Amino acid sequence: LRHQRTDADGSPLRTKDIWFTERNDNIALSLKHAGDKLYEKKSPFQKVEIYDTYAYGNMLTLDGMVMTTEKDEYVYHEMISHIPSLTHPNPKRALVIGGGDGGTVRELLRHSSYDEVVMVEIDEAVVEASKEFLPSIASALDHPKLSLRIDDGIKYVKETKGEAFDIVIVDSTDPVGPGEGLFTETFYRDVHRILKKDGIMVTQSESPRFNVKVFKEIFDCYGSIYGKENVHTYLAHIPTYPTGMWSFSYCSKGQANPLTTIDEDRRTEFLANNKLSYYNKEVHTAAFALPNFVKDILGK
Ligand code: SAM
Repeated sequence: LRHQRTDADGSPLRTKDIWFTERNDNIALSLKHAGDKLYEKKSPFQKVEIYDTYAYGNMLTLDGMVMTTEKDEYVYHEMISHIPSLTHPNPKRALVIGGGDGGTVRELLRHSSYDEVVMVEIDEAVVEASKEFLPSIASALDHPKLSLRIDDGIKYVKETKGEAFDIVIVDSTDPVGPGEGLFTETFYRDVHRILKKDGIMVTQSESPRFNVKVFKEIFDCYGSIYGKENVHTYLAHIPTYPTGMWSFSYCSKGQANPLTTIDEDRRTEFLANNKLSYYNKEVHTAAFALPNFVKDILGK
């Protein structure tokens, strides 16, 4: 909490009753915060803001929607990164679409097998704000193996030639604003094309409790591209996203199955060398266990 303001006596200013509220149709999430925003910018793409919340530390919002917070970011970033990186036998080149706060590339770059991670984020303001106010999340944004491009991920994927990546991670906003085109079949077909033959794509795929329509449409779309048997939905608990129940979709262009094709020796060594806060061997397996109502949505 580098930017935490203090009271006259130096104690943290934690008494104000000011609330940030993310409103979504019939539900809302509120977090009490310390008053003035730490950062606010209307970029050409969206409104970028950073708040100093009492419960979750500094928080990034885009157009009033929570993207990440210092205190629960590890769930999302570990789960979106380590499941594909540990399932692929030897990932060397990864592409991250979006992900401007830096959390996903920080986690990917824990894996020494990567020679290069390319990140294509449309909005420079997200990177700028995260570097200044979310330093623990943005800590790898200057990593020598990272090629950071400020560009539209849809365009980048369309223009990329050949089977260029082992892993593609779509760390996107919700399907509104600049992220809308990241939820289309055309984009997903381009991603499939640029994956190597044993490549893996993982996307954040919204909440099965809250955004049921998008959740189901994405699953069906991935099934039509990768084959249903190569699409695996998994879940994690993220307190600051609507309903707290969040999904990810794992799609394999080859046969890599996230539950059976793990190199246990490599995983054991990775986990011994990296102190993670959410991901472990048991969580990896359990995340793919879907409640009945989720199976019903997906027609499983
Ligand atoms: N973890 C968050 C969540 O699920 O709420 C999302 C993270 S946020 C960092 C997603 C990023 O995707 C934003 O920084 C946004 O600017 C970026 N983005 C949206 N549309 C994009 C596009 N077409 N190309 C590249 N990046 C995009």
